[in-house]
Amino acid sequence: MNNSQVNINQHTALNAVTGFPLEHTLSPQLHAQIYKKLGLNAVMLAFLSQNIEEIITCMRTLPIHLLAVTLPHKQTVMKFLDRIDPVAKKIGAVNTVINRNGKLHGYNTDIVGIAHALKNTQLKGKNVLIIGAGGAARPLCWFLKKSGAKIFCLNRTRTKAEELTQEFGGIALDNNALVGAKIDVIINATPLGMKPHIDESPFPKNLLNKNQTVFDLIYNPIETKLLKDAKKAGAKTINGMPMLLAQALEQVRLWSGKKLSINFLPKI
Ligand code: NAP
Repeated sequence: MNNSQVNINQHTALNAVTGFPLEHTLSPQLHAQIYKKLGLNAVMLAFLSQNIEEIITCMRTLPIHLLAVTLPHKQTVMKFLDRIDPVAKKIGAVNTVINRNGKLHGYNTDIVGIAHALKNTQLKGKNVLIIGAGGAARPLCWFLKKSGAKIFCLNRTRTKAEELTQEFGGIALDNNALVGAKIDVIINATPLGMKPHIDESPFPKNLLNKNQTVFDLIYNPIETKLLKDAKKAGAKTINGMPMLLAQALEQVRLWSGKKLSINFLPKI
């Protein structure tokens, strides 16, 4: 989005996205297009920070109206908020903070994004492998459990996969357990494949097949090495864009009360 298209004046609301790193984020461009379409006088800026407490202080004082929270702050942000939505509390991760008259309310809109991305994928009774055990893996586990899937988790730090599967139900796997395992759906919730790791994939290509669905949460690049490998193997692929869009629309709805159709096509 071209800056000259933003009409900033004394009434413009300030929104922000925070995380570390933030080079990959598309949230400012995406929000700008949603605000324009909905006629909202607002702008979203990127606040790169390793210190979420400082950003929360800024949110109260400036004020910031809507804060999108990305890695690594989705769990640590929770202790600084005044109220947390019950589902976000159960998930144990917040990706959206709304400033309601000085009180900060935390939500998890990744759930809405995940549900949208997986709306055409059979999950009940299926073996679903989540790679990663960080902030995004938590809403995935919550949603998959609710959908009746059998959850398997593989993570660089095995203890985190064990903690996650103990909490939500499921089995923590090692790399060597993948050979011979019947996995129906593979979900990448790590940064492997994202810039600067674009030549890396979190899953061996020789274990991909045409009966699988592969969902990569990464949206930058739009087609990761994992998705390229999956396509070559004939698997069904889903990139991170539908999730990003659906969760952003939900963020704007929570803040402004205004809804936009999911069929809205941003130019990014
Ligand atoms: P996070 O909380 O930082 O967790 C990252 C996870 O990836 C951890 O389990 C970590 O393992 C693992 N990991 C990190 N670097 C790795 C490496 N070099 N090799 C192997 N594993 C590695 O991040 P997150 O919030 O869960 O986000 C994960 C990914 O999902 C990111 O790419 C993010 O952009 C994407 N995402 C997309 C959307 C969307 O709307 N499409 C929404 C949310 C997130 P350890 O436990 O060992 O550290």
